[in-house]
Amino acid sequence: MRKGSDRVVVGPGSIPDYRIETIEGVRTGGVSHWQQQVGLPAASETLPGDRTADVCIVGGGLTGLWTAYYLSEADPTLDIVVLEAEFVGYGASGRNGGWLSAELPGNRATYARGPGGMSAVDRLAAELADSVDRVIDVCQTQGIEADVVKSGVMYVATSAAQLARLQSTTPAPGSRVRILDAEESSARIKVAGTRGAVLDPQCARVQPAKLVRGLAEVVRARGVRIYERTEVQRVESGRAVCETGTVTAPFVLQCLEGYTSALRGNRRTWLPMNSAIVVTQPLSQDVWSELGWAGNELLGDLANAYYYAQHTADGRIALGGRGRPYRYGSATDVDGVTQAWTIRSLRETLERAFPQLNGITLEHAWCGVLAVPRDWCASVSLDPRTGVGFAGGYVGSGLTATNLAGRTLRDLVLGKQTDLTTLAWTNRPVRRWEPEPLRWLGVNGMYALYRAADRRELAGLDRPSRLGRFADRLSGR
Ligand SMILES: Cc1cc2nc3c(=O)[nH]c(=O)nc-3n(C[C@H](O)[C@H](O)[C@H](O)COP(=O)(O)OP(=O)(O)OC[C@H]3O[C@@H](n4cnc5c(N)ncnc54)[C@H](O)[C@@H]3O)c2cc1C
Repeated sequence: MRKGSDRVVVGPGSIPDYRIETIEGVRTGGVSHWQQQVGLPAASETLPGDRTADVCIVGGGLTGLWTAYYLSEADPTLDIVVLEAEFVGYGASGRNGGWLSAELPGNRATYARGPGGMSAVDRLAAELADSVDRVIDVCQTQGIEADVVKSGVMYVATSAAQLARLQSTTPAPGSRVRILDAEESSARIKVAGTRGAVLDPQCARVQPAKLVRGLAEVVRARGVRIYERTEVQRVESGRAVCETGTVTAPFVLQCLEGYTSALRGNRRTWLPMNSAIVVTQPLSQDVWSELGWAGNELLGDLANAYYYAQHTADGRIALGGRGRPYRYGSATDVDGVTQAWTIRSLRETLERAFPQLNGITLEHAWCGVLAVPRDWCASVSLDPRTGVGFAGGYVGSGLTATNLAGRTLRDLVLGKQTDLTTLAWTNRPVRRWEPEPLRWLGVNGMYALYRAADRRELAGLDRPSRLGRFADRLSGR
């Protein structure tokens, strides 16, 4: 969260001036390119004083808003309040790569240690795949225009080691995941050095800020009260305390993901991991003819420190990656301003994949935080004794997962026993992270090893580097 001193309020009733800078000739910050595209929101209602509610949701990202959406659908009489420190979609939900994918946030074997075993993991995976279609369906039925195209996701292998990783992929029985050879892959997107790819059709492209803003409008229209510029200082059983008032409610749900660590008592709950994105100027028709990418597939690679990219609705490439992975003491960025090193590193990755874009103008760079649990697996929980619940820890695969988490929190709040309340991620215990400097050393060490592994693999290693596996083991991933 931003510090008070970082905020410049220009006049009464005006909105704060979100920080934007130029680094390496690239505009960075201003929350995200996606938010700039839709325009930062005008002044809105803050919590004016104490009040009561049936359900108080802390955090106006997709987890909070999907929860409000499904609760208000299930029981329109519920008095639901959302408290958001900045504006809806200020966090990762308005900054992400727009991959609405079916990816499981975390490791199957770790989830399977829970009481439901592997069958609860299989159900979680199936629900996530189904959630991709549910989000698309809500966009259609509720008139949310978020540049959604169900185009599938393609992971390309561009080295012998990445190809070995690809060949060890065994599509689950009945899944529509396909392995493409180099020719088929390049016919879709011409990535330099392609040796093959995995294509999963169960993924859609979205413009994240449009999705989160649209969803907020839908829940507002249903009577959900969203207070923005209202930072929660403390969550306790039955109440959320803010500077301007306290909301008293039998259920208080923490939906803060990467910002959880800033809330009192949560410093070591989840680690705020950084991810950063650069976006190019719109590309000419000639360049698009060279690159292909007519199917708008989401695009990633099979490196240890992988990238993720999308062909935007207005003809740009947005490409993201880890950047500087973690800031000491679980600190978070200011309004998405990222570092010169990260911009340079993402430019190198973009130009390696598409050499014809050498020297291309990058119009914007930004970063954000996602939450990483100590065991790298997400949780959706509600303590029936205190009424305090939370959802998150999606380790970078949260866009679809927030929808399922919202439906799971709905069932937990309504006290219903459903298929969702016994999924592998429901009511999982959360193990805390180590104190500093161990967190900083561990996470930055892990990514230094991933980058070293990638350098070896790109230099011609004919198998996945052991450094990558060592880093996984070191971090408990
Ligand atoms: C750069 C980037 C790229 C990503 N790309 C993808 C992708 O392509 N696909 C994918 O599946 N996932 C992706 N993710 C992850 C995904 O975006 C997140 O997992 C998801 O958006 C989390 O939603 P959320 O609502 O839980 O959290 P957020 O969207 O982070 O919402 C939390 C909200 O809480 C507010 N807040 C913080 N502190 C307080 C407080 N004290 N009081 C009140 N409000 C507070 C914040 O302002 C914020 O709006 C990406 C993440 C990042 C950062």
